[in-house]
Amino acid sequence: SKKAQRGHAILFSRQHHEEICRNALIEQALLTSDLSAELSLAFQPIVDITTGKAAGFEALARWHNPMLGDIPAGAFIPIAERTGLISQITLLLLQKALDTARLWPAHIYLSFNLSAHDINSPTHIRRILDIIQRNAINPSRLQLEITETAMTTHFDQAKAAVDKLRQLGCGLALDDFGTGYSSLIRLHTLPLTTIKVDRSFVTHIQDNPASYKIVRSLLSLSQEMGLDCVVEGVETGAELDTLRSLGCRHVQGYLFSRPLPASQLDTFF
Ligand code: C2E
Ligand code: CA
Ligand code: CA
Ligand code: CA
Repeated sequence: SKKAQRGHAILFSRQHHEEICRNALIEQALLTSDLSAELSLAFQPIVDITTGKAAGFEALARWHNPMLGDIPAGAFIPIAERTGLISQITLLLLQKALDTARLWPAHIYLSFNLSAHDINSPTHIRRILDIIQRNAINPSRLQLEITETAMTTHFDQAKAAVDKLRQLGCGLALDDFGTGYSSLIRLHTLPLTTIKVDRSFVTHIQDNPASYKIVRSLLSLSQEMGLDCVVEGVETGAELDTLRSLGCRHVQGYLFSRPLPASQLDTFF
C-alpha cells in the first residue's frame, strides 16, 4: 500500500541519515586522530593446504579510536579513499607491515593492499617504491594486492605504476577476482603473479553448481596463465574439501584463521 511504502521510505531515509552521520564522524576522526598511533595491522595466513602452513600473510588495517572504538576496515577505508587520506595511511601501514615481515622466516611473503589512489598518482607511487627499497626485506617477499576497479579509472597510469612495482621484483595480485567487470584482454596486459578469487564464489561451493564451475574455471585459467591462485573466504570443511578436489592449493579464510596480531603468527610458520 501507499502508506506502507511511505513507512518504508521513512525507515530507509532514517537508516541513510544514520549512515551519513556515522560516516561524517569517521571522516572527522580520520582527519583529527593520531593515525600512526591508532592504526595497526592484523595478519591473515594464506595457507598452503598441502602443509597447513602459511605461504604468506595478508596485512589488514585495524583502527582503534578512543572515541569511536574499533572501526572495521570496510567502514573507514572507503572514506579514507574518498578523502584522499588513504595515501598517507598506505605509507604508514606499509612501513609497519614491512617492519613486521622482516622478522618472519624468509620463505614467507607479505601481501599488502593498495587502493586506486595509490596506483593513480606517480609521485605517490615513487614514495611507495622508496619505502620498499629502503627496507631490508627482499622485494620478492612483498606482494601488492590491487582490485580491478582500482585499475579502471586511468588504466595506463595505473599500469605504469604496477609495472614499476613488478620491475622492483614485487609480486602483484589481482584482488576480489570475479567481482569487477574485467576485460580478460586488459588483465592479460598486467604483470600479474597471483589472482585472488573472491569469497562470494566460495560460500557453499559444495552445493552451488554455478560457483563450482566459476571457481573451477578460474583455477584452470590461473594455471594456464602461470599465475598463483588464492581462494578467499574459506569458512567450512566442506568448502575446503571441494576446493581440494579442484586442485586448489592456496586458501585464506576463517576455517584456518582470522586475521591475527603480529605476535600470534608463529603457529603458521
Ligand atoms: P579484502 O582485501 O578483500 O580483505 C579480505 C577481507 O575478508 C578482510 O576483511 C578479512 O578479514 C575478511 N575475511 C577473511 N577471511 C574471511 C572468511 O573466511 N569469512 C569472511 N566473512 N571474511 C573473511 P577486513 O579486514 O575487514 O577488510 C575489509 C576490506 O578493507 C579489505 O577487503 C580491503 O578491501 C580493505 N582493507 C583492509 N586493510 C586495508 C589496507 O591496509 N589498505 C587498503 N587499501 N585496503 C584495506
Ligand atoms: Ca586484499
Ligand atoms: Ca579480497
Ligand atoms: Ca575487497
